[in-house]
Amino acid sequence: MSAPAQSKSTATDRQPHTAQRRRERVFSGIAPSGTPTLGNYIGAIRHWVAEQDLYDNIFCVVDLHAITVPQDPAELRHNSRQLAALLVASGLDPERSALFVQSHMHEHAELTWILNCITPTGWLNRMTQFKSKAGEDRDAASAGLYDYPVLMAADILLYQADGVPVGDDQRQHVELTRDIANAFNFRFGETFVEPRAIIREAGARIMALDDPTKKMSKSGNDGSYIALLDPPAAIRKKIARATTDSERTIVFDERRPAIYNLLTIYEALGSGDETREQIEAEFAGKGYKEFKAALAERIVAAVEPIQRRYVELTADPRTLDDLLARGAAQVRPLAQETLRLVKDRVGLLM
Ligand code: ATP
Ligand code: MG
Repeated sequence: MSAPAQSKSTATDRQPHTAQRRRERVFSGIAPSGTPTLGNYIGAIRHWVAEQDLYDNIFCVVDLHAITVPQDPAELRHNSRQLAALLVASGLDPERSALFVQSHMHEHAELTWILNCITPTGWLNRMTQFKSKAGEDRDAASAGLYDYPVLMAADILLYQADGVPVGDDQRQHVELTRDIANAFNFRFGETFVEPRAIIREAGARIMALDDPTKKMSKSGNDGSYIALLDPPAAIRKKIARATTDSERTIVFDERRPAIYNLLTIYEALGSGDETREQIEAEFAGKGYKEFKAALAERIVAAVEPIQRRYVELTADPRTLDDLLARGAAQVRPLAQETLRLVKDRVGLLM
């Protein structure tokens, strides 16, 4: 029952399923709880796309996470397909990245239950996302919302992922995943890889346009985010209305969260070659109106090719459904192998 002595363990026996692997494996998910936003794109999706050749990639439309808060059934189905199409339109290449729908793989829910039984409720009580999503009336929040972090741990551990590329808001959940993996390994013997969060600092936390103290979320109100499918006119209008402050200079100053956030978006969607000093110099002596106009055009230019590919991809819904079925088939053996091992370790009859 005790874990192998740390001093004797090698990289191979600590990571039983990585011994044969040449590349590290990453897993990440995104919920079909609305249309993905610039926050999702900047904090997560663009990194998934840019780093596809560095890793073994598994990406998931996490519909079971979406239903932790009320969803309209028809809308949910639509959002799941829309999200998958937008990921591919953003550059996720099905040849290099497995992309599938969470509920197509029953192993996620099954592993969640087993992990539930080794996760102390005290750990869940510390999760800040539950507190913010449950709102005032915590008793009315679903048990699923409370258990969301354990489902997320199961998503990641099922594939023995080494890394989890996410935005800053998911840091705590990945830490919990490590704790759960560690607790399981300690009690039942080495089973899971302990994954680490991969968080690229710039743009890891894009804030809401109407309130720079809250993060931008696809489930927020319409004026708070820019969705990847927003038409140019809507983008211009939302940016024009975005909160600023009563100062005049356009500089990266974290003490001025509204303008800092807009500049961060501007920087993230640029060529990557500009320094912050160059951006500040570009807008020296100019007003918010001019800066916002330039920002809006940069966003419009960034989403235009994504929107164009989205239209092409969704012309025939079968193409997308086939792609998602192939993604699930690709990852199924891995999930089955882990679940079999877990059930055996726990002592479930097989
Ligand atoms: P929801 O409101 O339904 O939780 P969301 O916008 O938070 O939606 P998720 O599906 O929860 O999106 O997260 C998908 C990915 O996007 C995660 O890696 C998350 O860390 C990242 N992400 C979400 N919001 C932001 C943001 N404002 N800035 C940077 N990254 C973000
Ligand atoms: Mg979220």
